[in-house]
Formats: sequence, C-alpha cells, structure tokens
Amino acid sequence: MTSGPSLTVLSVTSECVPFVKTGGLADVAGALPAAVAPQGVAMRTLLPGYPAVLEALGKAEQKPVQVARWDSLFGGAARLFAAQLEGRDMLVLDAPHLFTRDGTLYLGPDGQDWPDNDRRFAALSWVAAQIGAHGIEGWKPRVLHLHDWQAGLTPAYLHAMGASGSCGTLMTIHNIAFQGLTPASQMHALQLPGELFSAEGFEYWGQISALKAGLVFSDRISTVSPTYARELLTPEFGTGLDGVLRARAGDVCGILNGIDKQAWAPPFKSQRGKASRVAALRKEAGLPDSDGPLCVVISRLSAQKGLDVLLSALPALLARGGQLMLLGSGDPDLEDGFRAAAQDHAGVSVRIGYNEPLSRRMMAGAEAVLVPSRFEPCGLTQLYGLHHGAVPVVARTGGLADTVIDANAAALRAGVATGIHFAPVTAEALAHAFHRLCDLYDAGAPFRAMQRAGMKADVGWESSAEEYARLYAEIAKP
Ligand code: ADP
Repeated sequence: MTSGPSLTVLSVTSECVPFVKTGGLADVAGALPAAVAPQGVAMRTLLPGYPAVLEALGKAEQKPVQVARWDSLFGGAARLFAAQLEGRDMLVLDAPHLFTRDGTLYLGPDGQDWPDNDRRFAALSWVAAQIGAHGIEGWKPRVLHLHDWQAGLTPAYLHAMGASGSCGTLMTIHNIAFQGLTPASQMHALQLPGELFSAEGFEYWGQISALKAGLVFSDRISTVSPTYARELLTPEFGTGLDGVLRARAGDVCGILNGIDKQAWAPPFKSQRGKASRVAALRKEAGLPDSDGPLCVVISRLSAQKGLDVLLSALPALLARGGQLMLLGSGDPDLEDGFRAAAQDHAGVSVRIGYNEPLSRRMMAGAEAVLVPSRFEPCGLTQLYGLHHGAVPVVARTGGLADTVIDANAAALRAGVATGIHFAPVTAEALAHAFHRLCDLYDAGAPFRAMQRAGMKADVGWESSAEEYARLYAEIAKP
C-alpha cells in the first residue's frame, strides 16, 4: 500500500479538529488525513464554513483558492474554497445562509436543533456528490468517506446525478443515535430523487432518513469498533436501523478510532511526574488530600453516557476515599445532579462547560477515568486515559470493551490488565467496579502495573489507518 499512485479520498464531515468540535467525530476527522497518508492515501476534507472555520481560512498562510461557486445552493449563494489549514488539505463550503450564524454547530442559541439542519447538511452532501461525480479543478476522489447522517444523503445525490459508479462510498457510523430524520414534505426542498423514497431506499416510517440513505446506498459501512459493529445488528443497539444493517451484514465492519499521540502526549515522564500532576489537579479542583484514587469524567452529559448511574453509585467510591472531578455539559437534570453532589460531598468537584485545556490537565492528573456509557461506539476518553496513566473504569460495551483489558485474575497475572469492566450499567455493578478499583489502588503494585500497561497500549492510529486504507482500496473506482 505504501508505493504507487496515491489513492484520493474525500472525507465529508460536519466537524473536524482543530477547527470545530462537539464530540469524537471531530477528533477522528481531524486525525484521519495524517494517519492514512503513510498508507498512500491522499485525503482532502470537506467541512462546512462555520464562523470558526472561515476565521481559520482567513488566517491561512497561503491564500485560499475558490474552486467552485453556486448562485443558489439550497437557498443562497455559496462558494467552495481549497486551503491548507493546520496541515490539512481542506475544502470549505462557504454558504453564509446555512453556516454563518451564532450558536453551536447543530443547535441555535435556544439550545434547540436549527430548524433547517436537514437543508444545511443536505447542501454539504450535495456538494460532496458533485465532487465525487465530477471532481474539482482536476482532482477527483476515488472514494467518498462519509461521516454520520450529516453526510448520509451523498450517495442518494450521486444516484440522482447518474454518477453512482463514479467513486466508491464508505459510510461510517460514529453514533447511530443521530439519524437526520426529516418530514417527507422536504423531498422537493432537499432535491432528493423521488424514486428512492421507499422502504428499500431512504424512507423511514414515512420520513426521510439521511443516515439510512448512507447505509442503504454506500458500497460499505463501517463503525468505530468491532463490538459496536456487532451490537448495531441487534434491536437493542440498532435504534430502528438494525434490520437495514442486518440486510447488509456482510458489508459492515468495525475499525477502532485511535488518538493523536503527539497532540495528546502526557506532560510527564515518570511515576513521580504523574504524582505531581495528581496533586496539582486536586489543588485546582479544590479537593482535599485523600487515600483513594482521583477519578475524572470528561463527557457530554446525556443519557447515553450513563452518568445518572454514576450519581447513584458515587457513595460507594467516596466511602473508599475515592474522589471525583467531572467536566461536562448537557442535560440540565444531570448538570443539577452533579452540582448538588459537589455541594454535598467534599470529595466531588464539578465544572459545567466545555474546556479543552482543562480536559487535558484532568487527563494528566487523573488516576482513573470513568466511562459508564449505556452504549459507546468507540469512546475516546478511555484512550486518552490509558495514554495518561489514568485507569479506565468502563461499561463492557462497544469500543470500551475493545480497548480496555479488564483486570481479571488472568490478565493481572499476565500483566496485561489496563482497566476495569462492569456490566450491566447499573449502580450496583458500578459500585462493585469501584470496590475493585479501590482494592487494586490500595494494593499499590497491581495498580501501578495497570497504569504502565495502559501507557504502553496501542492507542494510536497506525493499525486502524491500515484497515481504512485497505477498505478504500477495495471500493475505489479508477
Ligand atoms: P462522544 O463523541 O460521544 O461525545 P467520545 O468519547 O468519542 O464521545 O469523544 C468525546 C470527546 O470530546 C473527547 O475528546 C472528550 O475529551 C471531549 N469532551 C467531551 N466533553 C468535553 C468537555 N466538557 N470539555 C472538553 N472536552 C470534552
């Protein structure tokens, strides 16, 4: 794979570090180009021109080049710019009527989905299909790598353009909970081909499903861990699309996310260095000294993440001298619940909000990282935790099960344990996991061995990049 002409791929994403991020998708989209480059893959990334992205465009070292324009793209004028931004080969879709606004990527200032999210990401998908069908200024992708529902309509537009065979398509599910559903009355506004609105196409219980379009019409489907790939085929995890996925089971695979080890290098070199980070974090969090492990959570506060269960199990951790520092935002009830826990317990410190520098200090200073998710396609915080000597305590599901080796007796004896699994996601099971964590912590040597094994674990992109490159090569069109 490393020699020969490079395989051109367009990665189509609604978020990408270091420009815009709401979750793990941004980390993956941002890391993928550099990860697959050594495999002979030349990747460009198509991203909406949100204000933060246009700002980055304005600061580009070399002037961005306008490579396409449309007088009317789903209701307004739009331009496509090519630029090298932060080492990435970017195509930015500047469509002010769709992307230049306050609020977050998907939500308005009122915290509700933008009412025109369907149109915003239909436009992104339509432009991706145009590039897939016709190329852009002499460059043509042989594969379109489509991330989540926001890029899901792309193969439907390729079909409408009569260009389905012009490039390979890979649909990646980062989280099936988000499916991009919109009323059928939008068919015309979204310029979708009517003949594909059927149970065999992108119709989903009378609505348009952008994700289903991607699942039905892409050449291959991937998700971000082998366990989640299997789970998605079941009604429990498939969120209504398990039947669609079972029908394509032979085309579904799981490829683990990695982390950018350079960008997330731990700021210490020895156990002593780690210990001083732990002390510094306690101080920053306003937590007293303690004999138990300092645990962190860095997360969206949503039902998916199982943090209601953490609230219930917290007394078991605190009773053993364990402490919790949480950083996150989202569900108001969970925010209130954790604020109240911090008021009631000296061993709990809570920061509501999104704060990347703080999240890095927390990883550096944590002795354990808690991820009690009800489902978790891959999960990144446990990977950052492993890399920073913070022992992950994780629900045995999805990518958490695939990336953390449970400290059972055999794994401990072999010196390969890196964390603690628990199942099911209940307060009892999590409390039991806290006891196991604290037993190991109190014993000392086994806990340190787990920290060392975690720091040596393969959490980088190399092997996953090879798998993506193989997959691209299989579906690439000439
Ligand atoms: P998801 O994509 O479901 O939110 P992941 O674990 O895959 O979950 O990725 C979440 C990413 O967002 C991680 O990089 C995590 O560190 C980061 N993150 C989540 N919440 C916050 C926060 N409040 N502040 C800073 N970073 C956060």
